[in-house]
Amino acid sequence: MAINIDKEKCVGCSICIKSCPFDAITVENKVAVIGSACTECGACIDKCPFEAIVKTEIEKEKKVDLSAYKDVWVFAEQREGELMNVAIELMGEGRRLADEVGSELCAVLCGDGVQELISELFAYGADKVYIADHPELKSYRTDAYCKVINDGIVKYHPEIVILGATHIGRDLGPCLAVAADTGLTADCTSFAIDPEDKKLLQTRPAFGGNLMATIICPETRPQMATVRPGVMDKAEYVEGRTGEVIELKVDFKDGDIRTEVLKVVKDVKEMVSLTDAEIIVSGGMGLGSPEGFKLTKKLADRLGGAIGSSRAAVDAGWIDRAYQVGQTGTTVKPRIYFACGISGAIQHLAGMQNSDYIVAINTDENAPIFEVADYGIVGDLYKVIPAILEALDK
Ligand code: FAD
Ligand code: SF4
Ligand code: SF4
Repeated sequence: MAINIDKEKCVGCSICIKSCPFDAITVENKVAVIGSACTECGACIDKCPFEAIVKTEIEKEKKVDLSAYKDVWVFAEQREGELMNVAIELMGEGRRLADEVGSELCAVLCGDGVQELISELFAYGADKVYIADHPELKSYRTDAYCKVINDGIVKYHPEIVILGATHIGRDLGPCLAVAADTGLTADCTSFAIDPEDKKLLQTRPAFGGNLMATIICPETRPQMATVRPGVMDKAEYVEGRTGEVIELKVDFKDGDIRTEVLKVVKDVKEMVSLTDAEIIVSGGMGLGSPEGFKLTKKLADRLGGAIGSSRAAVDAGWIDRAYQVGQTGTTVKPRIYFACGISGAIQHLAGMQNSDYIVAINTDENAPIFEVADYGIVGDLYKVIPAILEALDK
């Protein structure tokens, strides 16, 4: 609906101005004008003695033909010619989804000189690889990647598009969704297929992690989602598998790409690779002070692992945010996760409860962390960790 003025009938008498509770009407050049404040409440319509205010139906947007969309696309994110772990995890999940909806799994690969990754993507289960290999795609730029992939979406009509919730995926996903005029569910933790209509059920934490929401995209396509690294299991690598290679058109006109990469500066800070670590020793407020991380680091170094932390310790300024595990930090899935002096708030659990083994050290035997722990040690971490180190030395 929209409120409009019939310019033929309006005499500019201004009677309608007062009738609008939102001050949305002005009279300019002896004709009433409906401004952007109009809420379409309709209060003004009967007030015009000349029947110059009319409510008009806006033509309903065309319905999308959902049946025209098929296949599952996974954004095969690569950096410097190496596939990101999350892309391999999404290949595993994408395979499962494609099998359930009865379609093909397709990897979408963009970059410069990335042809070598094609065979790897087939080995990870792709039936088709869509590739855009071009110097303009060497470094990630939103405009360039978005245009190439969206042109592909328009041409090939994928039913589902999933991306890793990396810095790149979090930037590209929403831009693609806008370009494709569809929705996007960010940071999904699981997917399912509705057995009745084969819609993608996209589940993610909501309301500060206190409940899980399942989101659907009923009227537009593709169904798009991002998934954090470390949440899904990696695809199985089967050497020698092959499939179809399809080139995506790369056709940039002046003004299509609004940014230029002048220099790539790598972060000189200590690299934190929580998602790749097989053992993580995390500390929380139970450490008592930032100095406590020296002890967790000692245990992590002894086991060849990495250190992590709770958000409370980050918020206290004890450690950099890059180490934070949890809903608003990194999601991890190591072989062993040590939670030292961490209470086990739901937002922390959201980022580590899929670890193979969880060892909790806490002075409070009722701490919620013990509910997810495989091994629980009730005690002071300043006594327990040195005892573990001593035992390891023996
Ligand atoms: P506390 O809850 O204070 O727990 C400290 C624990 O240490 C206690 O259980 C105590 O018994 C134990 N302890 C004390 N002394 C010792 C000792 N000497 N030896 C052994 N144990 C000891 N949190 C995250 O971690 N990650 C997130 O991503 C995250 N995201 C959030 C997002 C939102 C929207 C919100 C609202 C919160 C989020 N939080 C997150 C915060 C979360 O709710 C908790 O506040 C936080 O995890 C608590 O951190 P903690 O366990 O270190 O501290
Ligand atoms: Fe007058 Fe009607 Fe025009 Fe308003 S819309 S200025 S009431 S003629
Ligand atoms: Fe104002 Fe309501 Fe008329 Fe819009 S429809 S101009 S909000 S009175």
